[in-house]
Amino acid sequence: MNKKVIDALNEGRSRELSAILQYMAQHYELENDDFGKLAKILKHTAIVEMKHAEKFGERILFLGGVPTSKPDKEAKKGQDIAGMIDTDIVLEEQAIEMYNAASALCAAEKDMVSKQIFDQLAKEETEHLDEFQNIKDHVAKLGAAYLATLTGQAGD
Ligand code: FE
Ligand code: FE
Repeated sequence: MNKKVIDALNEGRSRELSAILQYMAQHYELENDDFGKLAKILKHTAIVEMKHAEKFGERILFLGGVPTSKPDKEAKKGQDIAGMIDTDIVLEEQAIEMYNAASALCAAEKDMVSKQIFDQLAKEETEHLDEFQNIKDHVAKLGAAYLATLTGQAGD
């Protein structure tokens, strides 16, 4: 049992749990404020993070560890849309940085399966980061006109 790798997988899992709770909290606030289209993006991103948390959990179990159920930070509440997106950008940036470092650690420990999980998730976090940065740019450039396009029903 490789404690270093299991610890890294659990650190990743804690980050995923934080992201899930943060994006769900934002989804509910946005839906309540009638920003349904943005709510839907956050809802779907939260579901992707749930799959990431599960991926880490299954690998930890396979390696003989115990998957953590603790998020690494509390979800922020009551932010405006620009503040929410800034929070999300930081979460994604920090996850990418940690997953890349953990990928190198797994390679050094010769656990190529765990390395591949970190590489795959880092790639998916890059997609989330890109999406959040696009939203941030639109809010900065277009302001209220862009925010108006995010209103309406969330749907699925
Ligand atoms: Fe994730
Ligand atoms: Fe993500």
